[in-house]
Amino acid sequence: MRKTISQLLATLVLALAACGQIWAAEADGLQIYWIDTEGGAATLLITPTGETVLIDAGNPGRRDADRIVKTITEIAGRKQIDHLVTTHYHGDHFGGAIELAKLLPIVNLWDNGQFEGLRDDPGKAYFELKAEKKHVIKPGDSIPVKQLAAGSPELSIRCLGTRQQFVTAPAGTEENTNICATAREKARDGSDNANSIVLLIKFGNFTFFDAGDLTWNQEQKLVCPHNVVGKVDVYQVTHHGLDASNNPLVLQSIEPHVAIMNNGTTKGCAPEVFANLKETKSLQGIYQVHKNLRPDGATNNVADEFIANREKECQGNHIHLAVAADTKSYTVNIPANKHSQTYQTRTGK
Ligand SMILES: [Zn+2]
Repeated sequence: MRKTISQLLATLVLALAACGQIWAAEADGLQIYWIDTEGGAATLLITPTGETVLIDAGNPGRRDADRIVKTITEIAGRKQIDHLVTTHYHGDHFGGAIELAKLLPIVNLWDNGQFEGLRDDPGKAYFELKAEKKHVIKPGDSIPVKQLAAGSPELSIRCLGTRQQFVTAPAGTEENTNICATAREKARDGSDNANSIVLLIKFGNFTFFDAGDLTWNQEQKLVCPHNVVGKVDVYQVTHHGLDASNNPLVLQSIEPHVAIMNNGTTKGCAPEVFANLKETKSLQGIYQVHKNLRPDGATNNVADEFIANREKECQGNHIHLAVAADTKSYTVNIPANKHSQTYQTRTGK
């Protein structure tokens, strides 16, 4: 009898330990939210240690700032923005930052500063917004984020390029000859989009690429003559899916498994970009923040299940991605649709 009780106790202890592990596993993963800013950008990372990294802050005014605050405080349970990155100076990326700075403490702001050749000036209100520390980011810089205990997967957020300068490939890297042979230019680099900050986020096996609104000819520099990005799991469709960006050489070189497009009801999701995404064999899932409601939408939309906002009257639904603590898989959720699909990371099988 005594033995049976001790056996039962041992089983109970093991079961509790297992529960603890499951809880810890969920708590230690990386989470990404594509907050709906109706054709703007606001991509929020909640790091495994609970830090918040916001890449772009949506449009001016309260609508997008309020949605960002709600996601950070009510959904993610955080109280501040540890790092805000403004990829470039267009209103749909920096605009919300001015209101946001009044609503939540911003610890670190990362952007291009006031550089020579600044094409689109965000203005005084942006440059004077309240943030504890302000940093001008350079190609090759990493945003210093807290790490889990030694032996756990490492998180890195690295700048691959900005202000039209890009990191170089390590010596001996093979040239991307076949893909680069098909390169062609587009003369549409005339705004601050071309100066976008390009970020590569890695957590263990998982890799996520966010290039802001980087334009076509600049995108080519990321993969020709050398692919400095590598292969990625998740591709944030550049520039909301507009065809001034989304050079197919990038898709062919980085071979993403999942693409997430922060388009609006009539912005982005351009026919050329949509066709290129559909032709990308590596893609297992394509998501849209909005249904494309333009006349070409009949042929340029993914299935409704993969779209967060399907009506003209926007509900502000987000797309959520959770990377497992062991980084072997990640799950994309659209809570509004009850959509949930798990993908294996490239090297985590
Ligand atoms: Zn934009």
